[in-house]
Amino acid sequence: MLTKNRGKIALISVHGDPAIDIGKEEAGGQNVYVREVGEALARQGWQVDMFTRCSDAGQDKIVEHSHNCRTIRLTAGPQEFIARQKIFKYLPEFLEAFIQFQHEQRTIYPIIHTNYWLSAWVGMELKKRQLVQHLHTYHSLGAVKYRAVNTVPMIAKTRLKVEQQCLETADLVIATSPQEEEHMRSLVSTKGKITVIPCGTDISAFGSISTEAGRAKIGLQPEDKVVLYVGRFDPRKGIETLVRAVSQSEVRKQQNLKLIIAGGSTPGRKDGKERERIEGIVNELGLQDITTFPGLVQHQDLIYYYAAADVCVVPSHYEPFGLVAIEAMASGTPVVASQVGGLKYTVVDEVTGLLAPPQEEQAFASAINQILSNPSWCEQLGQNARERVESKFSWDGVASQLDRQYLSELNKLHREFLTPAV
Ligand code: UDP
Repeated sequence: MLTKNRGKIALISVHGDPAIDIGKEEAGGQNVYVREVGEALARQGWQVDMFTRCSDAGQDKIVEHSHNCRTIRLTAGPQEFIARQKIFKYLPEFLEAFIQFQHEQRTIYPIIHTNYWLSAWVGMELKKRQLVQHLHTYHSLGAVKYRAVNTVPMIAKTRLKVEQQCLETADLVIATSPQEEEHMRSLVSTKGKITVIPCGTDISAFGSISTEAGRAKIGLQPEDKVVLYVGRFDPRKGIETLVRAVSQSEVRKQQNLKLIIAGGSTPGRKDGKERERIEGIVNELGLQDITTFPGLVQHQDLIYYYAAADVCVVPSHYEPFGLVAIEAMASGTPVVASQVGGLKYTVVDEVTGLLAPPQEEQAFASAINQILSNPSWCEQLGQNARERVESKFSWDGVASQLDRQYLSELNKLHREFLTPAV
C-alpha cells in the first residue's frame, strides 16, 4: 500500500504537553487534543512534531509516540511546573529554542498549528521570521473566560491583545464549535478567517465495554444508579453545582445512588484546594457514603467509568468544547451539561442528554432525576449520543478535515511565494 507523504507539520502547545498524564493540574483537553490530532495526522501521512515546554528536568526531551509522531520538549525558563498565567515572559526563549531546533535539524516547518494564546504569540512571531502558514486553535477565549470568573489575572490585558492579533493575522483560525466562532466574532474581532472543525474522541475505545463489564471492573453493582463527573478540579468546572444537585431530595431518594467524582489533584496546589473544598461540601451535605473520589484515572481506564455510569454530568460554568461530554456520549452514556459554549453543540437537548443553565443546582437535579427515573429513555439517549459522536467527532474524521485545510494552506504558500514569476 502506498503511504501518502504530506510533509512536515509542527503542532505547538507551549503549556499543554501532549506526552504527559492527563486529568490533573493544567493537563486536560488541550493535551488530549494535540496528542490525538498529532497521531491521527501521522496516520494520514504527515510527519508530526509536537512542541511543548519542558516542565521537569527529568523529562525525556523527545518522546516518540508512533510512526511519524513525536513530542519535543524545548527549554524555556526553569524546567519545572509553571502556572500558565506566568509563562508569557518565557515565550521569547521558547521561540528561539524552536528556531534553533529547526536549524540543528536542517529543516523548516512550512505549517504550524498553534494551541492556546501563549502558542499563538509564538506562531505570530515566527511568521515575522520565516515563511510559514499559521493555523491556530484557541481552546479557551479570554474574552469569554473572564466573564465567568470572579478575579481576572494580571495577564488578562496581554492575553486579550494577543488573541485579537492572532485572529486578525493568522492564516486560519479553527473554532471547535459554531458557538466558539460566534464568540470570536462578537467578542474578539470581525476580521480574520475562521473555520469550524470540532474536537474528537476515540470511538473504538470509548463504547467498547458493556455497562456490566464497566461496573464489575470498578466495583459497582448492577442495581446502582451511577452519576459520574470526570475532569480537573477547577472552580469553573462547577463540581459544586453537581454535588448540590445530587443532594436535592428528588435525586437523593433514588435507590442505590452513587456519585463518582474522578480527576487528579495535588495537595497544596490550586486543584488540591478545590478538591478539599468539594470534599468539604460533600461532607456538609451528608453525601460521603455515596460519593467516591477515585483520583486521577488513566485516560485508557476511563472507558470503564463511562460505561458504568447511568449519566455523566458536565456542570462547567464555561466550556470551550468539553471532551468529557463526547467521551461519555461515545460510550453510550447520556450527558447532563451546562448550556454553555461547545456543550450546546455536542449535547443535543432531549436527544443525547439534557442541558441546564450553569450553576443552577435545581435544574441539574431535575435533569439527573429525569434520566435516572427512565431507564428506557436513558438507553435511547445513550444510543443517540453514540451515533452523534460516530458521525461528527471521531479523531480520524477531525484529522481529515484538518488535513484538507493544511493542504490548502500549503498550496497558498506555494502559489504566493514559491512559484517563480513568469
Ligand atoms: N481526564 C483523564 N483522567 C482524569 C480526568 C480527566 O484522562 O482523571 C481527561 C478526560 O478524559 C478529557 C480531558 O482530561 O479527555 C479533559 O478535557 P475537557 O475538554 O473535558 O476539559 P479541560 O480539562 O480541557 O478543561
